[in-house]
Amino acid sequence: MYEFAVTPAITQLRRPGVLITEVAPDSLATELEIAPGDRIVRVNGRVVRDYLDFRFQTASETELELQIKKPNGETWQLEIEREEGEDFGLMFEQIVPRQCANECLFCFCKGNPADARPSLFVRDEDIRLSFLYGNYTTLSSITDDEMRRIVEQRLSPQYVSVHATDLKTRAFLLGVDERRADISGKLKTLLDNDIEIHAQIVLCPEINDGKQLEKTLRDLAAHYPRIVSAAIVPVALTRYNTDERLTRVTPEFCRRTVAEVERLQKEFRRNLGVTFAFLGDEIYVKAVLPIPSRKHYGSYPQIEDGVGMIRSFTNSFEKLLNSLEKKSKSSAAKVEISLEEFENTRTNPLAIVPKTKDPRPHTADRNFKSLRGTFLTGEMFAPILREQIEKLNALAGSQFHVLAVPNTYFGGDVAVAGLLTGQDFLAVKDKIKGDFVVIPKAVIKSDEPILLDGMKYDDLKAQFSVPIYDMDAQDLVGEILWKV
Ligand code: SF4
Repeated sequence: MYEFAVTPAITQLRRPGVLITEVAPDSLATELEIAPGDRIVRVNGRVVRDYLDFRFQTASETELELQIKKPNGETWQLEIEREEGEDFGLMFEQIVPRQCANECLFCFCKGNPADARPSLFVRDEDIRLSFLYGNYTTLSSITDDEMRRIVEQRLSPQYVSVHATDLKTRAFLLGVDERRADISGKLKTLLDNDIEIHAQIVLCPEINDGKQLEKTLRDLAAHYPRIVSAAIVPVALTRYNTDERLTRVTPEFCRRTVAEVERLQKEFRRNLGVTFAFLGDEIYVKAVLPIPSRKHYGSYPQIEDGVGMIRSFTNSFEKLLNSLEKKSKSSAAKVEISLEEFENTRTNPLAIVPKTKDPRPHTADRNFKSLRGTFLTGEMFAPILREQIEKLNALAGSQFHVLAVPNTYFGGDVAVAGLLTGQDFLAVKDKIKGDFVVIPKAVIKSDEPILLDGMKYDDLKAQFSVPIYDMDAQDLVGEILWKV
């Protein structure tokens, strides 16, 4: 059988060094005549592969020798002395993700429609992105060189998709042989070198659930605190996942899993002092069970994986409502609120951070009663958001509506907000109310205004008769006050 190379597809030529994309005016780099388009190839004789290498090799060095390739083919050798901590003023190209060599049963790439945006087919497995952004790797195709790099450059924590500690089960899920699936040696190296690990388990009914899940969690917890946490998220199958070996997640399955994991969580809290194993929010929602308390989640170690997001959101929103309530009691007739007051009353993560400089005064009284608009979100989050928004409406007199948008593009079990597409939003266009629409920020590609189905954000906006704003659930109220 044909086996993928470690990096099976390359869309960009790999040139030596790291490309400089911007140089800050009046910076050290400008003084040295370093310009966008140059490539830094070596620092003090050591090869530079990407901006992480550059940062690592220049950190705390005051005397440096840079080898730079100019676009015209010239090679410059620069000897530099700089103040301690003095910044070069350089921006670099993004890291091109290295791809995996697995064939996971549940891989999201297999659940894409054939015409999905090309980037949705990128199977990234990159220890650098794991460190920088919390992307998960399986470690199965990580080379010795990359292992050394994690340790040498302290790329900690690493986020690792373990799925199962039973080797046969892991190999089956990853679609590789047991030799490749076995990461026990790699995990040991990382842990022995004090690299922290956050583990992930994509829970597939009848494969790695029940006793298998218990074994996996116990095996992982044995390495606490070096393995810091384990997130258990349910497999999400689109209508394109037709592999008969996979079983869809049902409410009954979720209820059973919550009961089983709760027993272990109690045990971990007793023995380790922390919950350690966290179930994804989706499991509680599907099971129609309450989301655990703030205390359960500790420092929210895997919130980006949809673990504790709902608790974090509802707690922040409730704080906001409490402060509004106090305000309304002290102001007899109407609720008026200032941005400064919002900032003062909130801890985090609802802090107001305007993305662009706003010409309006920072403190401005706005009457909530004039605010009318619709929030579009996924079917999973809609009831939670609606409950909070209705409280806000009752308290402040605003007329906000929450509309659950079915995901018809991916279909299947996909109900999360972040996977909604342009055509899903268009399908509910006639149901919106008010003067503006809010969509989840996560549906827009971070480096390009385009949605998951390839629709340009501007084209979507053009088809609505009211403005569309994109924002995270956490930023909701603060952002509305700035934008409306
Ligand atoms: S799920 Fe991740 S590791 Fe598995 S095949 Fe897809 S991209 Fe690779």
